[in-house]
Amino acid sequence: MTQYLSQLNETQKKAVETTEGPILVLAGAGTGKTRVLTSRFAHILLSGKAYPNQILAVTFTNKASREMSERIASLINKPVEGLWLGSFHKICARMLRQNATLVGLTSNFTILDTDDQLRLIKQITPAYSIDTKRVSPQLILGIIQFWKDKGYSPDNLPNDEINKSGNSLIKTIYAHYQKRLREINACDFGDLMLHMFNIFSQHQHILEKYQRYFTYIMVDEYQDTNMIQYLWLKLLAQKNGQEANICCVGDDDQSIYSWRGADITNILRFERDFPGAKIIRLENNYRSTSSILGAASGLISFNSQRLGKTLHAANATVEGEKIKILSTYDSDEEARIICKNIIDFHKKEQQFGDMAILMRTSSQTRPFEECMIKLGIPYKIISGVRFYERAEIRDVIAYMRTVAQPSDDLAFERIINVPKRGIGKAALQKLHLLSRESNISLTMAAQQALNQGIIRGKVASELNQLILQLEMARSTNEKAGHLKAIDDLIHHCGYIEMWQQNKSVESDGRLENIRELFRAMSEFQSLYEFLEHISLIMDNDELSGDDKVNLMTLHAAKGLEFDTVFLPGWEEGLFPSQRTLDENGLNGLEEERRLAYVGITRARRNLVISYAANRQIYGNWQSAIPSRFIEELPNQFIVNPSIRINRNHSNPNYFDNLNFGKKQKGTRDTISFGNIFTPNKQRQNLPKSKNIPVGARVFHQKFGYGTVLKTEQNKLEINFDKTGIKNVIDSFVTETS
Ligand code: ATP
Ligand code: MG
Repeated sequence: MTQYLSQLNETQKKAVETTEGPILVLAGAGTGKTRVLTSRFAHILLSGKAYPNQILAVTFTNKASREMSERIASLINKPVEGLWLGSFHKICARMLRQNATLVGLTSNFTILDTDDQLRLIKQITPAYSIDTKRVSPQLILGIIQFWKDKGYSPDNLPNDEINKSGNSLIKTIYAHYQKRLREINACDFGDLMLHMFNIFSQHQHILEKYQRYFTYIMVDEYQDTNMIQYLWLKLLAQKNGQEANICCVGDDDQSIYSWRGADITNILRFERDFPGAKIIRLENNYRSTSSILGAASGLISFNSQRLGKTLHAANATVEGEKIKILSTYDSDEEARIICKNIIDFHKKEQQFGDMAILMRTSSQTRPFEECMIKLGIPYKIISGVRFYERAEIRDVIAYMRTVAQPSDDLAFERIINVPKRGIGKAALQKLHLLSRESNISLTMAAQQALNQGIIRGKVASELNQLILQLEMARSTNEKAGHLKAIDDLIHHCGYIEMWQQNKSVESDGRLENIRELFRAMSEFQSLYEFLEHISLIMDNDELSGDDKVNLMTLHAAKGLEFDTVFLPGWEEGLFPSQRTLDENGLNGLEEERRLAYVGITRARRNLVISYAANRQIYGNWQSAIPSRFIEELPNQFIVNPSIRINRNHSNPNYFDNLNFGKKQKGTRDTISFGNIFTPNKQRQNLPKSKNIPVGARVFHQKFGYGTVLKTEQNKLEINFDKTGIKNVIDSFVTETS
């Protein structure tokens, strides 16, 4: 048997060998869904059913893309190029470059990031009577993005959207924003999908061309597709009268992107959308020990909105280490203890690169970074965006963009006075005015302003010099390549000198970052390719290579796996996030719980969950209680050191005795270092176990008054007077009768 088939179980093999017709693989974490997709890609090629370029594969992680392209390269014995492989956005960006003129862009359009989008919105809003204190640019952008994720362009917004209060004005701003994007030959992330969807809907022959071209379509992490991605896929997969060869894999329990418009119902209606679809379920988990799986299954069973799946450890004899729970005094101590654990694991011959710290929010990384630097633990933050969000990196990229595309006004505006050239607000306003009046780009307006003497004196000579330097860079780019062009430019224009002269502590780091940017750039053939790459880079970029501890958010960790996983910050308010609970109630809570499930199921062998009793949030120390998710983990899968239990028993008010007020300097370690305990016992002491009986009247902050219908451990089914029957956790309700 071919090697890749021998590495699959029978059901996986069936999913791989069923190449024709629609298939949905619906299965839990670690059951080999991604492995099925990569094997299927190989199988289709080897059985001669398609050429590599005729397969469209939407992957979530770069790791999966890399694995697929490496596998294909080894199969056909040479490196492969031009595969349609990557995220939805990457694939759409490539298609859009081929069809840009149909939406009023040229093929070298720029892809804007959030910062640029906000800048653009801020330029537009003054034309409308809008109270930006109440309706912030972020909010406007959020609504526009929400519409784009649903597939709504300004001219096909449904009435019920427009009729919502304030939305008719935002619709006008949306149209204006799109017009401005066209003028500066740019689009935002949402546009990549939306433009391609509109092109497919309006130009039948183009749709048919791609439909014919792609003989097979595969999608990983299908549970997290949003409406526009779904509509786009459906168009592409449905050929006239023929069954689509589409294979989607997903797990409803890992749907964690509803805040970005992902819609779990896409997975539920697969059978309806693709008649004759085969549903395949995988039940063996090949990733984790049975303790880790047991904990994950126990936790997720608290969710009510589930399709329900069975999950067994493929190697049931490997129970593995139980899960460790750490109670710490504050976030610094949490970081120290976790780092100490990392060193211990490393002494036991575990590679740093096989360990990961997965956080609820990216702001949790700082104490870990500091601690690792102190202890000399190598680490990397898996979050391309963060690197590319640094000011110096954004500046240099803006220089690159201006070189690549003179009409990129946003980039030009960013660098026009960086380093300081004395080109202040007034001069910039003149340029904006000229650009609007003559309908030309800012760069052209600058040229014109100089020619016509609108700008004079020192400002004029500085501006003139900048324009010449940019032109020089464009010509060097053509003749000697992008590295030299940009290197010369940022040296000659004084940008590098600006940081060299800067005496602040971080300026050396900034220069190092710029060198790092050049290292990254050297891997690309041209400026355009590099700019394309960075505009598409995702949080979970570049995992390969060095032996370093991985730090990332839970969201970025989807699809990945590590021997040892640390999950810090399991505190009420942080995780589940208070904001999500406030905004989305029970749905929000269930999504947070799925995120916890994703976190737990990233671990192969060891899992450590921790929380701090005090945490600094927005600069203020706040006390915290352990996350309800800790309580929900079944006892039998957790390390059970009697020392902690005894202490709890002897001091039932353990938590009440902690200093939960503001942290006082110098008060350290009222709790001993690295406490480990059985969480259920712990929590029972905390908000005392409620034991609310059936029939009791209760009050819930979000849902109001209601009557308890059913109880199961700490889960209650309640008939709320106003909102009907809901399942809630007892810690959320107070008994009123
Ligand atoms: P997730 O839901 O987290 O994305 P997944 O279902 O995509 O998980 P994979 O990442 O494909 O799961 O597989 C999990 C692990 O199990 C991987 O290390 C993979 O190589 C391994 N694996 C998958 N199938 C088998 C198999 N049949 N035999 C041995 N190992 C397997
Ligand atoms: Mg996967």
